[in-house]
Amino acid sequence: MSVESKPEANESSKEPRSLHFIEQIIEHDNETGRFGGRVHTRFPPEPNGYLHIGHAKAIVLSSGMAKEFGGKFNLRFDDTNPAKEDVEYVESIKEDAKWLGADWEDRLFFASDYFEQMYEYAVQLIKKGKAYVCDLTADQIRETRGTPTVPGTPSPWRDRSIEENLDLFQRMRDGEFPDGSKTLRAKIDMASPNFNMRDPVMYRIVRAPHHRQGNKWNIYPMYDWAHGLEDSIEGITHSICTLEFEHHRPLYDWFLDELGVYHPQQIEFARLNLTYTIMSKRKLLELVKNNHVDGWDDPRMPTICGLRRRGYTPEAIRLFCKTIGVAKFNSTIDATVLENSVREDLNKKALRRMAVIDPIKLVIDNYPEDQVETLTAINNPENEADGTREVPFSKVLYIEREDFMEDAPKKYFRLTPGKEVRLRYAYYVTCKSCVKDENGNVVEVHCDYDPETRGGQSSDGRKVQGTIHWVAAPTALDVEVRLYDRLFSVPNPDDPQNAGDYKDYLNPDSLKVVQNAKVEPSLAEATLDDRFQFERVGYFALDKSSTPEKIVFNRIVSLRDSWSKVAKK
Ligand code: ATP
Ligand code: MG
Repeated sequence: MSVESKPEANESSKEPRSLHFIEQIIEHDNETGRFGGRVHTRFPPEPNGYLHIGHAKAIVLSSGMAKEFGGKFNLRFDDTNPAKEDVEYVESIKEDAKWLGADWEDRLFFASDYFEQMYEYAVQLIKKGKAYVCDLTADQIRETRGTPTVPGTPSPWRDRSIEENLDLFQRMRDGEFPDGSKTLRAKIDMASPNFNMRDPVMYRIVRAPHHRQGNKWNIYPMYDWAHGLEDSIEGITHSICTLEFEHHRPLYDWFLDELGVYHPQQIEFARLNLTYTIMSKRKLLELVKNNHVDGWDDPRMPTICGLRRRGYTPEAIRLFCKTIGVAKFNSTIDATVLENSVREDLNKKALRRMAVIDPIKLVIDNYPEDQVETLTAINNPENEADGTREVPFSKVLYIEREDFMEDAPKKYFRLTPGKEVRLRYAYYVTCKSCVKDENGNVVEVHCDYDPETRGGQSSDGRKVQGTIHWVAAPTALDVEVRLYDRLFSVPNPDDPQNAGDYKDYLNPDSLKVVQNAKVEPSLAEATLDDRFQFERVGYFALDKSSTPEKIVFNRIVSLRDSWSKVAKK
């Protein structure tokens, strides 16, 4: 088991666990029959970027609640802002949410499909005297909002007649007025201690085409107006969102109560923040546009497609979400927690293979020149069902450069002249000498082997302290290995107190490409679905660009956390 600081909970744990606060709310609602025992959640992304690990937390939570309570889950695109949205994002979000395990069955919805109904609802509020057309500009609205201690100034248009409001609102819809020249505002309370209640804007004029509605609309609904209606129309019971919407809840409730329509419960939880990365869509886009990374699915990105390409599994991400739990206060999770979830998941399922990343030759002087034999290696000590495989062995092998030292300290248990070590699954070998090039670099290590130790066991009970991995040279496959590391070199690249920009903290060593790593021949059959542990090296998966002519492996995660030591220095 290579996991340090093992997470407390895991997907397979059978121990009874306490309910988090959202489960408690749902359980209570079920007991009181508030929604007739129904549980119906949704994930409402705006199609203006790719999903990231923070969104994964929201998806796993909302879809997970539906699953846990035998309810339903909707995927709904909150496509109320025509300017920034794109179908490219719609497709990627669907793919990523599905990959994470979310199941919306046939309930894929678009907020824009409700525009007509939202419009009708707005007319209802106007007729109730609860909404009015305002001619102030966005700046003027901001300036007249007041301060926390000073009430806002009522708009001079606040007391327009219902007839005038209905007429103007229709004409806003018809495109008669320029962008930004009028809004529809809710008539609530300009003195409310909650700014969101100071006559918030419900509609603004944007005479731009919409990616699904074409040129049909010249007005677009604001988030706070639209969101509760979307939830209500879909019969959502528990509308789970992040903490920054807490002060919007009174408005969510006000709209639904004034309309007298079905009223879901909004529940807020703390968003995910993670060290050594960023989660702002705008900044992630900037990294892509400025070629700091190789696209949205660069394996260093915190995007779902990036993590997938890197080789993360959906199980590992769900395990991570379970490990961090759900709370109502904001915090930042250490990247190690995510990496340990990946290690825990992959330790169970990764097939063990031998791969040499930084090869030098090991020659076994007393081994027959042209002999090739096969040795049996265990595929996964964590899962007997994965069986064994045959690994070729021969006189000339590759080993890691760092597994030989000419002048080694006493505690060095690997190869050094005079010392005996075990070649994993093969033989004991005793190091004799090394060969250097003209610059003094070791190019070859020479050993003798003990034929009595086949399989890596001695018949006389003799013990060795070190075991090293190897790959037989004649049958080795040459592969490219991409050693990924954290994208940023500081825990909080986004901290406003940092000197400079977050881009100044990009980790220059976040990608190291190794061209001619040597791996055992069985890896020629690797598929994109396979996960491997290269023994003593780390967890790896094929990159999507890999071809039989040029095999490329990504390092998913190292075997151990090397950053905690760095941080403690
Ligand atoms: P934007 O600033 O564009 O709104 P966003 O990340 O909030 O960015 P949305 O598409 O609105 O993007 O997000 C969809 C859902 O994901 C929202 O309900 C939001 O609360 C949730 N979400 C976004 N970021 C996180 C995060 N870091 N942790 C947990 N949930 C998140
Ligand atoms: Mg948002």
